[in-house]
Amino acid sequence: AAAHQDVPVVRRAGFAMGTFVQVVAAGAGAQAAADAALEEVARLDRLLNRFDATSPVAAINAQAGRGMVEVPAEVGEVVTLALDVARRTGGAFDPTVAPLVDAWGFGAVERGEPPSRPPSPQAIEEARQRVDYTAVRLEREGDAVRVGLARAGMALDLGGIAKGYAADRALAVLRAHGVSSALVDVGGEIAVLGRRPATASDREDGEGWRVGIQHPRDPRGLVTTVELTTGAVATSGDYERLFEWEGRRYHHLIDPRTGWPATGLVSVSVLHESAAVADALATAVMVLGPRRGQALVREWPGAQAILVDESLRVTRVQGP
Ligand code: ADP
Ligand code: MG
Ligand code: MG
Repeated sequence: AAAHQDVPVVRRAGFAMGTFVQVVAAGAGAQAAADAALEEVARLDRLLNRFDATSPVAAINAQAGRGMVEVPAEVGEVVTLALDVARRTGGAFDPTVAPLVDAWGFGAVERGEPPSRPPSPQAIEEARQRVDYTAVRLEREGDAVRVGLARAGMALDLGGIAKGYAADRALAVLRAHGVSSALVDVGGEIAVLGRRPATASDREDGEGWRVGIQHPRDPRGLVTTVELTTGAVATSGDYERLFEWEGRRYHHLIDPRTGWPATGLVSVSVLHESAAVADALATAVMVLGPRRGQALVREWPGAQAILVDESLRVTRVQGP
């Protein structure tokens, strides 16, 4: 331990995308880099948040059924990624889930608490019919990207992938500033770069960032800890936004096929090189449930997952 030099570690915290953002960075230039990384998340929030009336995503939604909207390349990139995951998960992950999220009242965090009871079956059915990722149109022409929704009443909701995407982009900002050791946490979607800065208690150099996976039923407990020196881990769970009604819990991850909150799993953490992919996959596995969720991860190159089912049994699976 005596060999360790103290590297100044910078910590910055903020609030964006309806959640807490944390940046940890070490080394020369870490202060400016961490500030720039936080600003990057805020900037992407302004592009991707459907509840911000000035965002390109809000513009796409306002034009649903009426035509295409020219958007910044990054919005096209997130939509492309989201549609790719939608196809590969058979629509378990669906970036057009907005009507169902709204029917259930799990809209913007800023809009307050969710309602205290499920919507009517008719309201769910009506919303479900406006959810269809195959009706998203995306065109590229030179540098211009245009996105449109084929039917009126449809709306994009990138909430299941945007936090992960922002973590990736914020990490890229840190890298571009020359930081060699950093962690970005956007509401539980975590991307890391390099090794955790050594502390006096370390036995040896070169340990990875240790990330605790929150216990879904004990806010102060952990399911396990993962160690990362590259890539990302994203978690989705039934314990963040929910309400209880007649003894059952209803949460914010909606199965687009049934129109009801997903059942079978209470928490899913996915490890992947890309935080955006990990984020979307975590949502998809929650929706698919234990059996089909495990099958998806087993065939997803570079993915690993930790699933917690309703009886709190923990299963680890790995892709090829
Ligand atoms: P968590 O908030 O637990 O981290 P996610 O990262 O998966 O969960 O994001 C949750 C958000 O994903 C919801 O608020 C909603 O906007 C969106 N969402 C809900 N169901 C789906 C779905 N089936 N496909 C894609 N996005 C979804
Ligand atoms: Mg997600
Ligand atoms: Mg998440």
